[in-house]
Amino acid sequence: MSEPRPPHPDIARILVPEEELQRRIRELAQEISRDYAGRTPMLIGVLKGCVLFLSDLMKSLELDCCVDFICLASYSGTSSSGVVRMLLDLRESAQGRDVIVIEDIVDTGLTIAYLLQNLKTRGPRSVEVCTLLDKPDCRKVAISPKYAGFRIPNEFVVGFGLDYVERYRNLPYIGVLKPSAIRKDN
Ligand code: 5GP
Repeated sequence: MSEPRPPHPDIARILVPEEELQRRIRELAQEISRDYAGRTPMLIGVLKGCVLFLSDLMKSLELDCCVDFICLASYSGTSSSGVVRMLLDLRESAQGRDVIVIEDIVDTGLTIAYLLQNLKTRGPRSVEVCTLLDKPDCRKVAISPKYAGFRIPNEFVVGFGLDYVERYRNLPYIGVLKPSAIRKDN
C-alpha cells in the first residue's frame, strides 16, 4: 500500500476523509441493493459532480443497473445562481424505469427540484434521489433525498467530484478551501 497523500495545499480542513466516504458509499449501495432487489434501476448521474460517487456506488451495488447522465448548471463560483440550465440530456428513455438520481450535493434543492419535475414528465415508474452530501440548512425548496451519505453544515466544500471553478474534483476526500484559494471576483 502506498502512503496517503498529504492534503492539497489549498485545503484548510478535511470534512469527510476518504475512508469514511468509502465506508458510507458501501452502506448506501447495500441499502439500494436491498430496496431494489429483483429490479434493474436506471441510475441517472448529474454531471459533473456525480462522477466519483457514482462510479464507487455502482461497483458496490449487488444488482443489475443501467446508467445514463444529465448535465445541469446552476452554480457560479461558490454560490448558486438559482437558475438551472440543462446542458446535456439523457440518451436513454426513462419511460417505465425505476430511476435513481445520483447527485454530489443537495444545497438549495433548486437543481434537484427542477430535475425531478422534468423527469416526471417522461413517465418513469419511480424516481428517488441518492446524494453523497446534503446541506439541509440551505434549502429553498422542500426536498428530502431518500438516500443521503452525509449531512454537512452550510459551508462550501470541494473534492470527490465537487469543484471550485472546475478544480479540486480529483481530491479523494471532501474538504473546505482556504480563503486565499477563493478568487475575490466571485
Ligand atoms: P442546489 O441547486 O441544490 O443549490 O445545488 C446543487 C448543485 O450546486 C450541486 O450539484 C453542486 O454542483 C453545486 N453545489 C452546491 N453546494 C456546493 C458546495 O458546497 N460545493 C460545490 N463545489 N458545489 C456545490
